Amino acid sequence: DAKHQGRNRYSYFTSDMREVALNRLSIVNGLRQALANAELRLYYQPIVDLRDGSVYKAEALIRWQHPQRGLIGPDIFIPLAEEQGLILDIGDWVFRRAIHQVGEWRERFRPDFQISVNKSPVQFQTDQTFYKNWLQILLDAGLPGDSVTIEITESLTLGGKPIVAEKLQLFRDAGIQVAIDDFGTGYSSLAYLKRYDIDFLKIDRSFVRNLDSNENDRVLCAAMIAMAHTLGMQVIAEGVETERQRDLLAAAGCDYAQGYWYTVPLPADQFEQWLLDSGRANYTK
Ligand code: C2E
Ligand code: MG
Ligand code: MG
Ligand code: MG
Repeated sequence: DAKHQGRNRYSYFTSDMREVALNRLSIVNGLRQALANAELRLYYQPIVDLRDGSVYKAEALIRWQHPQRGLIGPDIFIPLAEEQGLILDIGDWVFRRAIHQVGEWRERFRPDFQISVNKSPVQFQTDQTFYKNWLQILLDAGLPGDSVTIEITESLTLGGKPIVAEKLQLFRDAGIQVAIDDFGTGYSSLAYLKRYDIDFLKIDRSFVRNLDSNENDRVLCAAMIAMAHTLGMQVIAEGVETERQRDLLAAAGCDYAQGYWYTVPLPADQFEQWLLDSGRANYTK
């Protein structure tokens, strides 16, 4: 009978699962308030030019400063935000905040400073108007398109949906650059990416992690770099944690590097201090 079944079903719902479900629920509810309560933060990680070690580019990475739980990373709440339809508002907030920040840094550090912003595939697929908002935000800030790069994951390009290609083209028409994030973890070929007119390839950190010891990974990185260059793209290596990794990548012709070896992502004021202390910023005055 139903009552018995219900009981049986409940018995499969272990206390671990209950905790996960309750956690999810409280995160989802909290997330709805997070924007209004100004609990979201952008952290910034430098993207270092391997030719001379200079920095005129940073990736904006979102965090949630939760009043009880402390700092929560995007891997926890971005998937929930995508599911719950909150990603559209969050995505707009990130873009607005990042544009404001890069405007400040272009005045304070270099006039060609750039910001790289992660774009949820969900927003590309469900929101038909966001690019208009985004172009308007840029226009209002008086910044050129090439002050921003949009990072998208391979999975987004793989579907080959024409709507995605159209939107990417709209961004590129405005001068905004496009980077493929976590490259090498999906299935797309470089030739395929060429169709989208991509500016940057970001080599996933799983290829960088064992560069010191793994000859295969070294060969793979070198091949990705060489092919990307042939197709007119520049290459950013993610997850650089050692000097040796940096040296190997530079020797293979990699253009930019990003990772804990330089610094973890930092709040804006600490990022500025890091730029000053490291001597990697060129000043306009
Ligand atoms: P991602 O775009 O691939 O960002 C790189 C991730 O690697 C960041 O994690 C960064 O903190 C981490 N990282 C950087 N250097 C190193 C290193 O040397 N070693 C290791 N082990 N990790 C390193 P984070 O900040 O937790 O972000 C995770 C992912 O969340 C991002 O991956 C991105 O896909 C997503 N994300 C972050 N911010 C946003 C956002 O504003 N909007 C959307 N839609 N997604 C975001
Ligand atoms: Mg990224
Ligand atoms: Mg990545
Ligand atoms: Mg990622």
